[in-house]
Amino acid sequence: MENIRAAIVGGGPAGLQAAISLSKAGMTPTVFEEHPSIGQPIQCGEGLSIHAFDDFSIPIEENKLWIDLHKKCKLVFPEGRATYGDIQAYMIRRDKFDQYLAKQAINLGAEIITATKVHSIQQNSEGVILTTKGDETKRIQSNLVILAEGARAKLAQRLSFVPPSPLIYGFEYKIEGEWREELEFHFDSEKYPYGYIWIFPRKNETNIGIVTTAKERKKRLDNFLKQNNISGKILKKMGGPIPMKGPIPKLYCDNILVVGDAAGMVNPIFYGGIRMGMTSGEIAGKIGAKFLTSKKENQFYSLSNYQSEILKFKFMDEINLKCHNFFYSRSNKFLSKLGKILNNQYINRISGREKIKVLSNLLKEPGLLRHPKGLLQIYKGFKIARDWGF
Ligand SMILES: Cc1cc2nc3c(=O)[nH]c(=O)nc-3n(C[C@H](O)[C@H](O)[C@H](O)COP(=O)(O)OP(=O)(O)OC[C@H]3O[C@@H](n4cnc5c(N)ncnc54)[C@H](O)[C@@H]3O)c2cc1C
Repeated sequence: MENIRAAIVGGGPAGLQAAISLSKAGMTPTVFEEHPSIGQPIQCGEGLSIHAFDDFSIPIEENKLWIDLHKKCKLVFPEGRATYGDIQAYMIRRDKFDQYLAKQAINLGAEIITATKVHSIQQNSEGVILTTKGDETKRIQSNLVILAEGARAKLAQRLSFVPPSPLIYGFEYKIEGEWREELEFHFDSEKYPYGYIWIFPRKNETNIGIVTTAKERKKRLDNFLKQNNISGKILKKMGGPIPMKGPIPKLYCDNILVVGDAAGMVNPIFYGGIRMGMTSGEIAGKIGAKFLTSKKENQFYSLSNYQSEILKFKFMDEINLKCHNFFYSRSNKFLSKLGKILNNQYINRISGREKIKVLSNLLKEPGLLRHPKGLLQIYKGFKIARDWGF
């Protein structure tokens, strides 16, 4: 049996950021990734808030990582629309982005082993035993394991503290041509229940996708394209699962931390998870390093510190799930009224003259006024989602 100090299962943004963070603290983690190369296959709309670049000092001038910067975003309801204030979102090249993180991790001393799947996880008195299958099957004893295996979280869910996360599915086309000038989200509770259609333009091409609990996602997306006269050549199709109800309640147990999609770290309003995943990886790496150092010195440091550190972030606030529950259970009639009262105003920043306009529109809609708590949840939830949603 091989012995290592820190193992990370999954080479997506959460696992790679955990590797960077552990390596910066002087550890030499090993990342196991089942696919032959990092960043592939891409399953992503590729929208990412500028804050992710700031948080992790990712050089914006490194323009191989992104294609376009958007400062405007429309929220389109069956009738009426709203807009997002102060948004700054990059259209990234997701494969290059993940590969950039992998390179940083390797430069700092981490090892990344691709084409190697972790098949089983078992706790013992020394830590955790992983069974990996690459060219050969290996048993590996590790003092610390960070599970960053994405939405399906198969290994994590074998541990008693990780409940199955309800999943929603996304499906996307990359289409030739720029079909819009700004980011758009289209909500319709009948056609795309619990989700929406996104249009993310980037130079010479546009990512257009659907996320919903409804079946026949491709058919629904095709109908949308037809109705909106979007007819460019389809360059790529992709899709995948996304945790839909936000973070799981407990994020650690003896010698194990769960990060990223595996821990449900996805904004439950827009279902974006790159920035949250990286943040959880960063914190898990720091706490994991302290845990390993104290173990070496025969002292005790609890992994529960990971949970308490993460809880300080706004993306962990229960308002996000409340907003999801209220917003996504509204009828189209409600959404249209919301669109009409907002009338192109900001959904997340209503101030000054805008406030008076929106309030006077609201007074004309007694149907909406019956839900003051829900409206406040939408206001607060969308405010957080602007920065943590994609
Ligand atoms: C269609 C779609 C569109 C999306 N669009 C956006 C968007 O525009 N913006 C945004 O912020 N988020 C978006 N997301 C969500 C975002 O992609 C995820 O939140 C993010 O990738 C989570 O990172 P992660 O590292 O936790 O998981 P992942 O990126 O899923 O990485 C997990 C890795 O673990 C590997 N793995 C799994 N099991 C094992 C195992 N047993 N052994 C070894 N390796 C294993 C997988 O191969 C994978 O590489 C989208 C998701 C989907 C499905």
